[in-house]
Amino acid sequence: MALVNLRDILADARANKYAVGSFNVVDLASLEAILEAAEFMQSPVILSIAEVHFKYVNLENITPAIKEVARRCSCPVALHLDHGESFEAIMRALRAGFTSIMFDGSKLAFDENIRQTAAIVKMCHAVGVTVEAELGHIGGAEGGSGGAVPPPEEFYTKVDEAVRFVKETKVDALAVAIGTAHGLYKGKPQLDFERLKALNAALNIPLVLHGGTGLSNDDFARCIENGVAKINFYTGMSVAATERIKDKLKSSPESYDYPGLLLEAKAGICRTVSEQIDIFRSKGMCAPDSSLCSFCSGCVIPRKIHAPVGAPAPAAAASDGEALVKKIADAVIDVLRQMKK
Ligand SMILES: [Zn+2]
Repeated sequence: MALVNLRDILADARANKYAVGSFNVVDLASLEAILEAAEFMQSPVILSIAEVHFKYVNLENITPAIKEVARRCSCPVALHLDHGESFEAIMRALRAGFTSIMFDGSKLAFDENIRQTAAIVKMCHAVGVTVEAELGHIGGAEGGSGGAVPPPEEFYTKVDEAVRFVKETKVDALAVAIGTAHGLYKGKPQLDFERLKALNAALNIPLVLHGGTGLSNDDFARCIENGVAKINFYTGMSVAATERIKDKLKSSPESYDYPGLLLEAKAGICRTVSEQIDIFRSKGMCAPDSSLCSFCSGCVIPRKIHAPVGAPAPAAAASDGEALVKKIADAVIDVLRQMKK
């Protein structure tokens, strides 16, 4: 099916107490692994490309592939810019056809974050693209070393500021800082659930949790209970892929099988993403009898004969022009038959 935006999937997730996983695409192998997992688990999914990962993946090259694989997926897929910090990155993503943008103004002063986020929301909403913003600051680096545990007090999202921020910017989803960090945690993460509860009670939009890798299943469950409808998960994917490659190289040190290593990475990512989808409770949410099944009925390919992700693309349907020619030919044949009688 065609790509959807965050509004299309997160309202259902928030209402029905599950979270949609947001997994980072860094190459074709990770793209296929994530979508195969989502398809297998019958789960909606968010494909994210982070601005800091532009050095690994060319946005303009990968987006047509993403659209094609998503089209053959029976579950809703959103294409999201993760941590867009520059105007250039946001414009490139919009031009490429992303359906959602994260503008990360968390390093800006509060009023400046509001001003810039509001301007970007206005621009994105005009073309049907949803916007996630960040308030407070989630430390650490994507896939790298994590932030301090617990983070400094000034990093946490303040409830009164969040209320004003959402009202003035009109964002569709808000990433909140409640003690998580990107990358591998340097200690046991301690989440501020009271703060999350208060944010959820004060805001009427889906909340986003960044820094999913390293949290316990109980942490995820309590976050979902308290309004988190989107969970960003990347470091765990990178760890799973790298571990599989390391194991392979250990067992066959003389091998120089580069594509074989890519398959190992893909298998590791697919397994990890499937496990997280289960933990996030989105498994089966786009099965035919689920609350999201209306999405599936809009799929271009009937669900029962849907080709698995990675299978050859079905032949393109006849174009409108060809169909018109056939209709005219049929009508002419009909007229000729009538004349013969
Ligand atoms: Zn993040």
